[in-house]
Amino acid sequence: MGPVPRDSFNREIDYLRISVIDNCNLRCVYCMPLEGLRFAPKPELLTAAEIEQVVRAAVGVGFRKFRLTGGEPTIRADLLEIIERVAAIPGVGELAMTTNALLLGKLAVPLKKAGLSRVNVHLDSLNPATVERLMRWGTFEQMWAGIMAAEAAGLTPIKLNAVVTAGFNEADVVDLARLTLERDWHVRFIELMPLGGGECARVAIKRYVSNIETRRRIEAELGALVEVETRNPSDEAVNYRLPGARGIVGFISPVSEPYCGTCNRMRLTADGKFHLCLLNDDELDVRKALRSGASSAQIGEILLRAVTLKPTGHHLLVGRSTQDRSMYQIGG
Ligand code: SAM
Ligand code: SF4
Repeated sequence: MGPVPRDSFNREIDYLRISVIDNCNLRCVYCMPLEGLRFAPKPELLTAAEIEQVVRAAVGVGFRKFRLTGGEPTIRADLLEIIERVAAIPGVGELAMTTNALLLGKLAVPLKKAGLSRVNVHLDSLNPATVERLMRWGTFEQMWAGIMAAEAAGLTPIKLNAVVTAGFNEADVVDLARLTLERDWHVRFIELMPLGGGECARVAIKRYVSNIETRRRIEAELGALVEVETRNPSDEAVNYRLPGARGIVGFISPVSEPYCGTCNRMRLTADGKFHLCLLNDDELDVRKALRSGASSAQIGEILLRAVTLKPTGHHLLVGRSTQDRSMYQIGG
């Protein structure tokens, strides 16, 4: 295992987010339009063995933290094989996954057995009607059952992510935050980001709610939030606790409070590109090298080049980010 790599802005980059598929079983209004989507055909997706190769190389050049994401990772048929392969690599301590929980009812136990450590679950509201309007295609009951199954299987601590969307769930943040009074969960509120330049980017701009407003709503109903010392300075959430609460209320505020200065992430797209920054289009291909027999050291070199080229800063405040890739193709 090498020393933690640093980019040209002297940031330590040791966290790889791996998208395993770009398709999804939901159609959240700010993420995937109902029509006009094109998904990477299966031969373009990295195989389980190729993902394992990239993670081995990443550990070799000093990466320490790994997460699976999508699209929706649980709809990938060989997800358990991917987890088994990745979790078994020496140097991969904790392996987490971001999911909408729809399929966790049946998958939580096998995922844990395969080596998954924990899940971040995306759920925008506790109101079934709002969930159906905002996330479309799925039901609150299925997702809630999935979260319960994940907790019972020990995929903990449970972290819930809610994207706050004007006209849909901005008032529901209070009930979500209230969950932390009784449960030792992290409930985090995410500001909308416009990615991909299409319909969803327009939704994200139009429906944006600042976390300053979300925090105000929560405090007006549930009392003052007290900031909690974050153990990991690169945690994108600023964490708080409600009076007497067991869990944490977090705010992820890329627009109102950018955290580019402490970014420690590199992303791998499902079709095998290192995506250098969520909010820029710059990418470096690794699939070609994988498919032409590159050694682990050579894959590691490509990753280190990606780290060196990683940009900083974004243009969200003037409504600009990626044009080529949308959120479901990068994985958040
Ligand atoms: N399907 C999984 C899920 O929803 O958790 C994993 C992939 S999803 C793209 C990853 C995260 O991106 C989700 O937690 C979701 O909240 C967030 N997300 C999607 N579109 C977004 C947007 N336009 N702005 C901010 N966050 C977004
Ligand atoms: Fe699917 Fe996640 Fe995008 Fe929602 S946010 S459409 S669950 S990929």
